[in-house]
Amino acid sequence: MLEVCQIRKSFGKRTVADGISFRVAAGEITAVLGASGSGKSTLLNMIAGLTAADGGEVRLGGVRLDGLPPERRDVAMMFQDFALLPHLNVCDNAALPLRLRGVGKAQARRRALAVLAEVGLADLAARRVADLSGGEQQRTALARALAAEPKLLLLDEPFSALDAALRGRLQKQTSDLVRQRGIPAVLVSHDAEEACRMARQLVLLGGGRVLQQGTPDAVYRRPVSAAAARLLGCAN
Ligand code: ADP
Ligand code: MG
Repeated sequence: MLEVCQIRKSFGKRTVADGISFRVAAGEITAVLGASGSGKSTLLNMIAGLTAADGGEVRLGGVRLDGLPPERRDVAMMFQDFALLPHLNVCDNAALPLRLRGVGKAQARRRALAVLAEVGLADLAARRVADLSGGEQQRTALARALAAEPKLLLLDEPFSALDAALRGRLQKQTSDLVRQRGIPAVLVSHDAEEACRMARQLVLLGGGRVLQQGTPDAVYRRPVSAAAARLLGCAN
């Protein structure tokens, strides 16, 4: 399980995290909902170790991650813009994290192909990423994220660039894979519908704090404030 405890971050005078805490159980997705600029990406970057927190703790399976460099955290991230290498083929992109970790070429390829088959891309393994559709690119990014067998998956609005039908398929596929692999995942989104579809728990962020957290059902039934209701899309 992932535990984020009292994490804090300011950029100059702007406080983007003012003591944020939540937990994510293995095999479950927690969605962090917040307006644009509310600090969602910064929160994920702190969990991944890409941005240093000013205070607080992050634990994964009971082990403190703070202080560990990103490459030793066993955390995979997916972004809106895919962040793939366009000139490499699908298989080499999916195998890249394994290669960077020193896994031999043949074994990395074998493992990448297995994950590509899981996301339905086995037939496109030799295709250059630049020649793929948006949905295929994002499935390649999903395969790459999972190929290294991460202990945590961080999703930074990964589906927002896709059209509605594709988005729905990828949301489902990602939720299924998180459940099957039994790892915790954090999805940040500004889309309440996506958050409710994918997540077991919602964390509503505003002003650097957690405005409310709970199951989608509980949070929708009783938003604690006007700001919370706005994030859920039920008030203006
Ligand atoms: P979100 O992902 O919710 O849109 P971000 O985490 O990207 O929000 O950004 C939150 C706030 O922190 C924004 O005001 C942004 O400009 C600021 N910010 C993010 N990263 C930096 C940085 N490296 N230096 C200064 N300000 C930053
Ligand atoms: Mg962001």
